[in-house]
Amino acid sequence: MATSKSRKSPPLMKPDRDRRFAAEENPFEAMMSRFDDAAARLKLEPGLYRVLRAPEKQIIVSVPIPRDNGEIEVFTGFRVLHNTSRGPAKGGIRFDLNVSLDEVKALAAWMTWKCAVVNLPFGGSKGGVICDPSSMSDREIERLTRRYTSAIIETLGPDSDVPAPDVNTNERVMAWIMDTYSMHKRHTVTGVVTGKPVAMGGSLGRRDATGRGCLVVTRSALARHKMKLQGASVAVQGFGNVGSTAARLMAEAGMKVVAVSDKSGGIYNRKGLDIADCLKWVNEHRFLHGYRKAEAVSNDELLTLQCDVLVPAALENVITSKNANAIQAKIICEGANGPTTAQADVILDAKGVYVIPDILANAGGVTVSYFEWVQDRGGYFWDEETVNDRLQKIMMRSFDEVSEMSEKHKVSMRIGAYMLAIDRVAAMHRMRGLYA
Ligand code: NAD
Repeated sequence: MATSKSRKSPPLMKPDRDRRFAAEENPFEAMMSRFDDAAARLKLEPGLYRVLRAPEKQIIVSVPIPRDNGEIEVFTGFRVLHNTSRGPAKGGIRFDLNVSLDEVKALAAWMTWKCAVVNLPFGGSKGGVICDPSSMSDREIERLTRRYTSAIIETLGPDSDVPAPDVNTNERVMAWIMDTYSMHKRHTVTGVVTGKPVAMGGSLGRRDATGRGCLVVTRSALARHKMKLQGASVAVQGFGNVGSTAARLMAEAGMKVVAVSDKSGGIYNRKGLDIADCLKWVNEHRFLHGYRKAEAVSNDELLTLQCDVLVPAALENVITSKNANAIQAKIICEGANGPTTAQADVILDAKGVYVIPDILANAGGVTVSYFEWVQDRGGYFWDEETVNDRLQKIMMRSFDEVSEMSEKHKVSMRIGAYMLAIDRVAAMHRMRGLYA
C-alpha cells in the first residue's frame, strides 16, 4: 500500500500561548460558544438544547482508490447531517488534509444556522475527505469523488441531503457526484447537488452570489449607520470567488476599494484601486504579487488599515484576540466563514465595531444554491436578473430580521443572527414534536 506522499507532519505546539490560540481557533468551540450564548438568551428548553447540539447523523467511510501508479490507497471521508427538521440537509464537501470529524460537525451545524437565518427550507450538513488534492491527478480526484459518493449514497438525494462545492472542490467535482448518483438511480437527478456547471442544471448568478450578498448587506449596514455608500472606503482580504466579486461589485456601486489581498500579499491605494485592472493582472499573473500601481501591504496590515468597511473573504480565524484591538474599520462584513474568533467578538463589541456575521453576510451563496435546487426540481430556469433580484430581496429582508432581533435583545448582530436561526429551528421541532 502507498501512503499519502505529501502528508504534512503536525505542527509542534509551543506551550500555553499556542495552546490558547488553538482553543480560540477550534471551529467546534467557535460555533458552540455562540450557540450556547444565543440559546441561553432564548431560554431554550434543556431538552431541545440537547437535540440541537447533537448532529443527527455522522458517517465515517473508508474510500479506497487505485492511484495512477496502480497502488491502492485508502482515504477517510465524512458526511455529517446536523439537523434536517426544516428540510433536506444542505452543505459542501471539502477535500483537504485538515479535514476532521470535529471540523465537519461544526461546519454542518453552521449550515443549519445559515440556512435558517435566510429562511431557506433546508437543514445543515457538511462532508469531507482527508486528502491532499494538490498531490493527486484529475483522474485520481475523479475516482475519489465517485467512490466517496457511492459510500455515502444512502444519505444523498434532492429530498434528503444536497452537497455543494467547498474547499478544493468545484463544479467539476459536483458534475461527477451528480453523474455517480444518477447512474445508481438509473435516471438523471440534477437536483442532488448545487454549484454545477450552468450547462448541466446550474444556476445563472451562482458564481457572483456570495460577493453580491456581501454588497447587499454592506449597503444596509451603511444605511443603518447613516453612512453614504458612495465613496465609503473598503478593504477586502481574499481575491478569490467571494473577495474579488465583492470588491468588483462594491467598486461598481461607487465604493472606494482601497486594498485587496490574496495568498501572495496585498496592495493598497488610499485613493482607491482600479479593481477591473487588478482582476486583469490576476488573470494574467495568477496572484496580486507584483502589481505595480499600488503600495504593497501584508495580509496582517490590510486587516488593520483605516477604512469604513473591512471584508475578510479568505480564511477563518484572521481576526483574533491578538489583532482585534487594532481594527480601525467601522463595519466588518464577514465574506469568509469564521474569520472572527469568539474572543475577538468581545473586543470588537467593546470597541463598537459593527460586525455583519458570516451566517448572514455570506449566505448569498447558499441562497442561490437554493434557487438552483428549485430550478432543477421545476425543470424551468430563470434569467440572471430574476436570480439577482430574488437574492437581493432575501438578503435585505434577512438583514432587517437579524437587526430587529439584535435590537430587541440588545445583542450583537452575530448573537442576533444565531438567536433568529435557533428560534426558527426550535419552532419547527416544537411543531413537529418528538417521534420516540
Ligand atoms: P477561493 O479559493 O476562490 O479564494 C480564496 C482567496 O483567499 C484567494 O484569493 C486566496 O489567494 C486567498 N488566500 C488564501 N490563503 C490566504 C492567506 N493565508 N492570506 C490571505 N489570503 C489568502 O475561495 P472563496 O470561494 O472565495 O471562499 C473564501 C471564503 O468564503 C471561505 O471561507 C469560504 O468558506 C467562504 N464562503 C465561500 C462561498 C462561495 O460561494 N464561494 C460561500 C460562503 C462562504
